[in-house]
Amino acid sequence: MEFKYFMPTEIYFGEDVVLKNKDVFKKLGRKAFIITGRNSAKKNGSYEDVTKALAEAGIEYLLFDEVEENPSLETIEKASGLGKANNVDFVIGIGGGSPMDAAKAIAVFIKNPEVNQDNVFSGRKLEFIPVVAVATTSGTGSEVTQYSIVTSNKEMTKKNLGQVIFPQVAFLDYKYTYDLPYDITVNTAIDAFSHLVEGYLNSNSTFMSEIYAERGFQLFEDCFKKLVTKDLDHGFRADVMLASTLAGILISQSGTSLPHGMGYPLTYFKGLPHGLANGVLMIEYLRSFKDQTKIEKMLKVMGMSSLAELEEILKKLITVKVKITEEEIREYAQEFIANKAKLKNHTEEVKLEDIERIYRNSL
Ligand code: NAP
Ligand code: ZN
Repeated sequence: MEFKYFMPTEIYFGEDVVLKNKDVFKKLGRKAFIITGRNSAKKNGSYEDVTKALAEAGIEYLLFDEVEENPSLETIEKASGLGKANNVDFVIGIGGGSPMDAAKAIAVFIKNPEVNQDNVFSGRKLEFIPVVAVATTSGTGSEVTQYSIVTSNKEMTKKNLGQVIFPQVAFLDYKYTYDLPYDITVNTAIDAFSHLVEGYLNSNSTFMSEIYAERGFQLFEDCFKKLVTKDLDHGFRADVMLASTLAGILISQSGTSLPHGMGYPLTYFKGLPHGLANGVLMIEYLRSFKDQTKIEKMLKVMGMSSLAELEEILKKLITVKVKITEEEIREYAQEFIANKAKLKNHTEEVKLEDIERIYRNSL
């Protein structure tokens, strides 16, 4: 057996972890730059907890609260300008994947004043100021991954910044998700589930991946039931956040695969939320495997006897109405097949027509 496992993020999981561990901030500097979306952080208690913890720890802070969903490089550049002008020492991303990913990119831009949206994809390894991630959705796992997924309007796509930006600290308090609306809860949970599946059925999957994925699938047995019955109690919120974190650790080691790569154009061009874009492709992706052995194992861990059972659940949770033409399918498939990084994560050989078929049958 051989594997590599690298998880440098300090993880605090549980109720009130931000206030209980406020001293953690003291190690990171004297001035924090808080990055959030427009509204939710101020309503769900996360911003209040973080600012209280900072005040008690004697740390100054500055807020940028303009991160949109699927954060653009323009927004990241704007926030970085503010951070640089104010000499901030570290960044705290509070929110779903969008503010957390934006915070990681902002940390890179601040550390490297010569970097801008036109040259950031040069491939050069870049340093960054410390990042703290406070998750308020249970989906992306961004709090424990090195990825920062940004929207490049110039390239008309979403892509990974291409740097290794693990947050130094991750705070996971499920109480921030108690009032997450049902549709966002579903979409983000399906994102976490996609991470489990794509990390598990991945060329880079190891013994460690199986531990994380199979424990995550076990949690999803119950989470799926509660999502369907809309019984989103506190136990569900804790379990789905845990599953999402396990899934984040999993993909930080293996990367994602087909649904993620194929979902980006559905988000960019058709406006589908990220988790929904993965979810809509999931069943056809799973059906495309010639070797179903590991998929059968996964279903068994979730207490399901067939793929049809998973399909029924996903149908109950998501309805997607997008108009897509044959020409668009061809374009998206061609673009995807050129993405060698994602293709090599898939365990079987896939051709252009396989990718087209997954899009066609899913939509
Ligand atoms: P999001 O785009 O961060 O947020 C979606 C919506 O949820 C926003 O309207 C947000 O409002 C709201 N929201 C967030 N927390 C809330 C709460 N506790 N209560 C009520 N509303 C809340 O959604 P996401 O699905 O978490 O993140 C998606 C992004 O993450 C995509 O760009 C995706 O590509 C990326 N992603 C990254 C990774 C990674 O490893 N880095 C992995 C997968 C996906 P506000 O805007 O007001 O906050
Ligand atoms: Zn994802």
